[in-house]
Amino acid sequence: MTISKKIRQRDMATAFHLLVDRFQNSKLPDAVFSAEIEPFSKCADTTWQSMLRSGWLTQIEIKGRQNYVLTPSGLVEGLRLVRIPGDQSLQEQLGRFQGAAKKSLKGRTQPEVVRFENLLKDSGLSAEFVFNALECDLVGHFLKAHGPAWLQRGVTVRIPLDLGLPVAEHEKPITVQLNEAREERNEYRCSYCGARKIEIGSSPTPDGDRSYYDGYDCGRLDVDGQIDKPCPSAKFPQLDDYELDAFENVGEGLLGALIEKMPAIRWKCEARPKTADAAQFPVPLGYGSSRIEAIEHVRSSYEKVRQKYKVGRQVIAQKEKGR
Ligand SMILES: [Zn+2]
Repeated sequence: MTISKKIRQRDMATAFHLLVDRFQNSKLPDAVFSAEIEPFSKCADTTWQSMLRSGWLTQIEIKGRQNYVLTPSGLVEGLRLVRIPGDQSLQEQLGRFQGAAKKSLKGRTQPEVVRFENLLKDSGLSAEFVFNALECDLVGHFLKAHGPAWLQRGVTVRIPLDLGLPVAEHEKPITVQLNEAREERNEYRCSYCGARKIEIGSSPTPDGDRSYYDGYDCGRLDVDGQIDKPCPSAKFPQLDDYELDAFENVGEGLLGALIEKMPAIRWKCEARPKTADAAQFPVPLGYGSSRIEAIEHVRSSYEKVRQKYKVGRQVIAQKEKGR
Protein backbone atom coordinates (compact mmCIF):
# COMPACT_ATOMS: atom_id res chain seq x y z
CA MET A 1 0.00 0.00 0.00
CA THR A 2 1.37 3.44 -0.91
CA ILE A 3 1.92 6.02 1.81
CA SER A 4 -0.51 8.43 0.25
CA LYS A 5 -3.26 5.83 0.37
CA LYS A 6 -2.48 5.27 4.05
CA ILE A 7 -2.61 8.99 4.75
CA ARG A 8 -5.87 9.30 2.86
CA GLN A 9 -7.39 6.47 4.90
CA ARG A 10 -6.18 8.03 8.12
CA ASP A 11 -7.66 11.39 7.14
CA MET A 12 -11.00 9.79 6.29
CA ALA A 13 -11.07 7.97 9.63
CA THR A 14 -10.30 11.24 11.43
CA ALA A 15 -13.07 12.97 9.48
CA PHE A 16 -15.60 10.35 10.60
CA HIS A 17 -14.47 10.66 14.20
CA LEU A 18 -14.89 14.43 14.07
CA LEU A 19 -18.33 14.13 12.50
CA VAL A 20 -19.63 11.57 14.97
CA ASP A 21 -18.16 13.48 17.89
CA ARG A 22 -19.73 16.75 16.83
CA PHE A 23 -23.07 15.59 15.45
CA GLN A 24 -24.13 12.45 17.29
CA ASN A 25 -26.40 14.64 19.45
CA SER A 26 -27.73 16.81 16.60
CA LYS A 27 -30.67 16.20 14.30
CA LEU A 28 -29.23 15.29 10.91
CA PRO A 29 -30.55 18.38 9.06
CA ASP A 30 -28.64 20.46 11.63
CA ALA A 31 -25.38 18.60 11.02
CA VAL A 32 -23.99 21.43 8.89
CA PHE A 33 -20.33 22.44 8.96
CA SER A 34 -17.67 24.35 7.11
CA ALA A 35 -14.50 22.51 6.16
CA GLU A 36 -12.59 25.78 6.67
CA ILE A 37 -13.34 25.97 10.38
CA GLU A 38 -11.77 24.01 13.26
CA PRO A 39 -11.87 21.11 13.94
CA PHE A 40 -12.97 20.16 10.42
CA SER A 41 -10.15 22.18 8.83
CA LYS A 42 -7.80 19.46 10.19
CA CYS A 43 -8.86 17.21 7.30
CA ALA A 44 -7.80 17.63 3.69
CA ASP A 45 -10.27 19.08 1.17
CA THR A 46 -9.87 15.94 -0.91
CA THR A 47 -11.25 13.90 2.02
CA TRP A 48 -14.46 15.95 2.12
CA GLN A 49 -14.73 15.78 -1.66
CA SER A 50 -14.37 12.02 -1.53
CA MET A 51 -17.08 11.79 1.14
CA LEU A 52 -19.30 13.98 -1.03
CA ARG A 53 -18.84 11.54 -3.91
CA SER A 54 -19.75 8.59 -1.67
CA GLY A 55 -23.02 10.28 -0.73
CA TRP A 56 -21.95 10.62 2.92
CA LEU A 57 -22.16 14.41 2.65
CA THR A 58 -24.12 16.91 0.58
CA GLN A 59 -23.37 20.55 -0.01
CA ILE A 60 -25.40 23.66 0.73
CA GLU A 61 -24.57 27.29 0.19
CA ILE A 62 -24.94 29.60 3.18
CA LYS A 63 -24.22 33.30 2.65
CA GLY A 64 -22.28 32.57 -0.49
CA ARG A 65 -20.08 29.94 1.19
CA GLN A 66 -20.11 26.20 0.66
CA ASN A 67 -21.01 24.11 3.67
CA TYR A 68 -21.37 20.39 4.06
CA VAL A 69 -24.30 18.49 5.55
CA LEU A 70 -23.99 14.97 6.91
CA THR A 71 -26.40 12.58 5.14
CA PRO A 72 -28.22 9.54 6.63
CA SER A 73 -25.77 7.14 4.97
CA GLY A 74 -22.90 9.30 6.26
CA LEU A 75 -24.12 9.05 9.84
CA VAL A 76 -24.63 5.28 9.55
CA GLU A 77 -21.12 4.88 8.14
CA GLY A 78 -19.72 7.08 10.92
CA LEU A 79 -21.49 5.14 13.68
CA ARG A 80 -20.29 1.90 12.15
CA LEU A 81 -16.67 3.04 12.03
CA VAL A 82 -16.49 4.95 15.26
CA ARG A 83 -18.30 2.41 17.36
CA ILE A 84 -16.18 1.62 20.37
CA PRO A 85 -15.81 -2.11 21.01
CA GLY A 86 -17.86 -3.07 24.04
CA ASP A 87 -19.84 0.18 24.00
CA GLN A 88 -23.42 -0.92 24.33
CA SER A 89 -25.05 2.48 24.34
CA LEU A 90 -26.17 2.54 20.69
CA GLN A 91 -27.68 -0.94 20.97
CA GLU A 92 -29.32 -0.05 24.27
CA GLN A 93 -30.88 3.13 22.95
CA LEU A 94 -32.17 1.31 19.89
CA GLY A 95 -33.61 -1.37 22.18
CA ARG A 96 -35.52 1.30 24.10
CA PHE A 97 -36.68 2.88 20.86
CA GLN A 98 -38.03 -0.47 19.63
CA GLY A 99 -39.64 -1.11 23.01
CA ALA A 100 -41.55 2.18 22.85
CA ALA A 101 -42.72 1.42 19.30
CA LYS A 102 -43.83 -2.06 20.34
CA LYS A 103 -46.07 -0.68 23.07
CA SER A 104 -48.24 1.09 20.51
CA LEU A 105 -48.69 -2.11 18.52
CA LYS A 106 -50.13 -4.13 21.37
CA GLY A 107 -53.10 -6.19 20.22
CA ARG A 108 -53.11 -4.61 16.74
CA THR A 109 -53.62 -6.50 13.53
CA GLN A 110 -52.78 -3.50 11.34
CA PRO A 111 -49.69 -1.32 11.18
CA GLU A 112 -50.03 1.58 13.55
CA VAL A 113 -49.39 5.28 13.08
CA VAL A 114 -48.18 7.29 16.06
CA ARG A 115 -47.14 10.87 16.56
CA PHE A 116 -43.42 11.49 16.72
CA GLU A 117 -43.78 13.28 20.08
CA ASN A 118 -45.58 10.30 21.60
CA LEU A 119 -42.92 7.86 20.46
CA LEU A 120 -40.35 10.25 21.89
CA LYS A 121 -42.10 10.45 25.25
CA ASP A 122 -42.60 6.69 25.50
CA SER A 123 -38.95 5.98 24.72
CA GLY A 124 -37.50 8.54 27.12
CA LEU A 125 -34.73 9.14 24.56
CA SER A 126 -33.54 12.48 23.19
CA ALA A 127 -35.44 14.05 20.28
CA GLU A 128 -32.19 14.09 18.28
CA PHE A 129 -31.59 10.37 18.72
CA VAL A 130 -35.17 9.37 17.81
CA PHE A 131 -35.20 11.71 14.82
CA ASN A 132 -31.95 10.27 13.48
CA ALA A 133 -32.98 6.68 14.21
CA LEU A 134 -35.99 7.24 11.94
CA GLU A 135 -34.09 9.26 9.37
CA CYS A 136 -31.35 6.64 8.95
CA ASP A 137 -33.23 3.43 9.79
CA LEU A 138 -30.71 2.75 12.54
CA VAL A 139 -32.77 -0.28 13.66
CA GLY A 140 -32.38 -1.85 10.22
CA HIS A 141 -28.68 -1.09 10.08
CA PHE A 142 -27.60 -1.98 13.60
CA LEU A 143 -30.23 -4.43 14.92
CA LYS A 144 -30.88 -5.92 11.45
CA ALA A 145 -34.59 -5.86 12.30
CA HIS A 146 -37.72 -4.06 11.08
CA GLY A 147 -38.21 -0.75 12.84
CA PRO A 148 -40.49 2.28 12.73
CA ALA A 149 -40.30 4.64 9.73
CA TRP A 150 -41.44 8.17 9.00
CA LEU A 151 -44.92 8.57 7.57
CA GLN A 152 -44.62 12.35 7.60
CA ARG A 153 -41.12 13.46 8.50
CA GLY A 154 -40.96 15.03 11.94
CA VAL A 155 -44.69 14.52 12.57
CA THR A 156 -45.95 10.95 12.27
CA VAL A 157 -44.33 7.54 12.39
CA ARG A 158 -45.48 4.23 10.94
CA ILE A 159 -44.98 1.15 13.11
CA PRO A 160 -44.96 -2.00 10.95
CA LEU A 161 -46.69 -5.18 12.10
CA ASP A 162 -43.45 -7.14 11.73
CA LEU A 163 -41.63 -4.75 14.06
CA GLY A 164 -38.57 -6.38 15.59
CA LEU A 165 -38.53 -9.34 13.22
CA PRO A 166 -35.23 -9.89 11.46
CA VAL A 167 -34.90 -8.33 8.02
CA ALA A 168 -34.84 -11.17 5.48
CA GLU A 169 -31.97 -11.30 3.00
CA HIS A 170 -34.19 -10.42 0.00
CA GLU A 171 -35.72 -7.45 1.84
CA LYS A 172 -32.42 -5.73 2.48
CA PRO A 173 -31.76 -2.57 0.52
CA ILE A 174 -28.69 -2.81 -1.66
CA THR A 175 -26.85 -0.30 0.56
CA VAL A 176 -27.31 -2.58 3.57
CA GLN A 177 -26.09 -5.59 1.63
CA LEU A 178 -23.08 -3.59 0.54
CA ASN A 179 -22.33 -2.51 4.10
CA GLU A 180 -22.57 -6.08 5.34
CA ALA A 181 -20.18 -7.29 2.69
CA ARG A 182 -17.80 -4.49 3.62
CA GLU A 183 -18.14 -5.23 7.34
CA GLU A 184 -17.33 -8.85 6.67
CA ARG A 185 -14.25 -7.87 4.67
CA ASN A 186 -13.16 -5.32 7.29
CA GLU A 187 -13.27 -7.98 9.97
CA TYR A 188 -10.25 -9.42 8.26
CA ARG A 189 -8.34 -6.16 8.01
CA CYS A 190 -6.61 -3.71 10.33
CA SER A 191 -9.13 -0.90 10.83
CA TYR A 192 -6.30 1.63 10.76
CA CYS A 193 -4.18 0.77 7.73
CA GLY A 194 -6.19 -1.93 5.96
CA ALA A 195 -3.50 -4.63 6.29
CA ARG A 196 -4.76 -8.20 6.15
CA LYS A 197 -5.35 -10.36 9.20
CA ILE A 198 -2.73 -13.10 8.92
CA GLU A 199 -3.07 -15.00 12.16
CA ILE A 200 -5.88 -16.15 14.39
CA GLY A 201 -5.17 -18.30 17.39
CA SER A 202 -5.45 -18.89 21.09
CA SER A 203 -3.01 -19.46 23.90
CA PRO A 204 -3.39 -20.57 27.52
CA THR A 205 -3.34 -17.85 30.20
CA PRO A 206 -1.63 -18.26 33.61
CA ASP A 207 -5.02 -18.69 35.34
CA GLY A 208 -5.88 -21.73 33.22
CA ASP A 209 -8.12 -19.84 30.80
CA ARG A 210 -7.48 -19.19 27.12
CA SER A 211 -6.99 -15.91 25.36
CA TYR A 212 -7.69 -15.39 21.68
CA TYR A 213 -5.54 -13.27 19.45
CA ASP A 214 -5.65 -11.76 15.97
CA GLY A 215 -2.44 -10.75 14.22
CA TYR A 216 -2.30 -8.40 11.24
CA ASP A 217 0.25 -8.08 8.46
CA CYS A 218 1.21 -4.58 9.68
CA GLY A 219 2.24 -5.92 13.09
CA ARG A 220 -0.87 -5.00 15.03
CA LEU A 221 -2.03 -7.56 17.55
CA ASP A 222 -5.43 -7.84 19.22
CA VAL A 223 -5.97 -10.01 22.29
CA ASP A 224 -9.55 -10.99 23.15
CA GLY A 225 -10.84 -8.33 20.78
CA GLN A 226 -8.83 -5.52 22.42
CA ILE A 227 -5.88 -3.83 20.79
CA ASP A 228 -2.72 -5.10 22.47
CA LYS A 229 -0.08 -3.87 20.00
CA PRO A 230 -1.44 -0.93 18.01
CA CYS A 231 -1.01 -0.59 14.26
CA PRO A 232 2.57 0.69 13.75
CA SER A 233 1.29 3.34 11.30
CA ALA A 234 -0.74 5.00 14.08
CA LYS A 235 0.66 8.17 15.62
CA PHE A 236 0.58 8.41 19.39
CA PRO A 237 -2.44 10.59 20.29
CA GLN A 238 -2.66 13.66 22.54
CA LEU A 239 -4.88 13.49 25.60
CA ASP A 240 -7.12 15.96 23.72
CA ASP A 241 -7.82 13.23 21.20
CA TYR A 242 -9.99 11.50 23.78
CA GLU A 243 -13.31 12.71 25.11
CA LEU A 244 -13.14 12.34 28.90
CA ASP A 245 -16.60 11.54 30.13
CA ALA A 246 -17.01 11.23 33.90
CA PHE A 247 -20.25 10.08 35.48
CA GLU A 248 -21.52 8.67 38.75
CA ASN A 249 -21.14 4.92 38.85
CA VAL A 250 -24.56 3.45 39.49
CA GLY A 251 -25.48 -0.19 39.73
CA GLU A 252 -28.34 -2.36 40.81
CA GLY A 253 -28.39 -5.15 43.33
CA LEU A 254 -24.99 -6.57 44.22
CA LEU A 255 -23.07 -4.05 42.11
CA GLY A 256 -24.99 -1.20 43.74
CA ALA A 257 -24.14 -2.53 47.20
CA LEU A 258 -20.49 -2.86 46.22
CA ILE A 259 -20.34 0.76 45.00
CA GLU A 260 -21.97 1.88 48.28
CA LYS A 261 -19.25 0.08 50.21
CA MET A 262 -16.36 1.32 48.13
CA PRO A 263 -16.35 5.09 47.75
CA ALA A 264 -13.23 4.80 45.59
CA ILE A 265 -15.35 3.53 42.68
CA ARG A 266 -18.25 5.93 43.08
CA TRP A 267 -17.19 7.88 39.98
CA LYS A 268 -16.20 6.45 36.65
CA CYS A 269 -14.47 8.14 33.71
CA GLU A 270 -14.33 6.89 30.13
CA ALA A 271 -11.74 8.04 27.59
CA ARG A 272 -13.56 7.86 24.29
CA PRO A 273 -11.22 8.14 21.28
CA LYS A 274 -12.05 11.05 18.98
CA THR A 275 -9.50 10.18 16.30
CA ALA A 276 -8.44 7.05 14.47
CA ASP A 277 -5.05 7.31 16.16
CA ALA A 278 -6.57 7.47 19.62
CA ALA A 279 -8.68 4.41 18.81
CA GLN A 280 -5.43 2.44 18.40
CA PHE A 281 -4.39 3.32 21.96
CA PRO A 282 -7.24 2.42 24.31
CA VAL A 283 -7.02 4.06 27.73
CA PRO A 284 -8.60 2.04 30.56
CA LEU A 285 -11.57 3.29 32.57
CA GLY A 286 -10.78 5.54 35.52
CA TYR A 287 -12.37 5.34 38.95
CA GLY A 288 -12.45 7.66 41.95
CA SER A 289 -14.47 8.98 44.84
CA SER A 290 -15.16 12.21 42.92
CA ARG A 291 -15.44 13.37 39.33
CA ILE A 292 -12.01 14.97 39.53
CA GLU A 293 -10.41 11.84 40.94
CA ALA A 294 -11.88 9.64 38.21
CA ILE A 295 -10.62 12.04 35.52
CA GLU A 296 -7.19 12.16 37.20
CA HIS A 297 -7.09 8.37 37.15
CA VAL A 298 -7.69 8.37 33.38
CA ARG A 299 -4.96 10.99 32.92
CA SER A 300 -2.44 8.85 34.76
CA SER A 301 -3.53 5.76 32.78
CA TYR A 302 -2.96 7.76 29.60
CA GLU A 303 0.56 8.55 30.86
CA LYS A 304 1.18 4.84 31.44
CA VAL A 305 0.00 4.02 27.92
CA ARG A 306 2.37 6.73 26.64
CA GLN A 307 5.31 5.34 28.64
CA LYS A 308 4.65 1.85 27.34
CA TYR A 309 4.56 3.22 23.81
CA LYS A 310 7.84 5.11 24.32
CA VAL A 311 9.60 2.05 25.71
CA GLY A 312 8.31 -0.02 22.78
CA ARG A 313 9.68 2.54 20.31
CA GLN A 314 13.06 2.48 22.02
CA VAL A 315 13.23 -1.30 21.81
CA ILE A 316 12.45 -1.16 18.08
CA ALA A 317 15.10 1.54 17.56
CA GLN A 318 17.70 -0.56 19.44
CA LYS A 319 16.93 -3.60 17.34
CA GLU A 320 17.27 -1.61 14.13
CA LYS A 321 20.61 -0.21 15.31
CA GLY A 322 21.88 -3.70 16.13
CA ARG A 323 21.19 -4.94 12.62
ZN1 LIG B 1 -2.38 -1.67 10.67
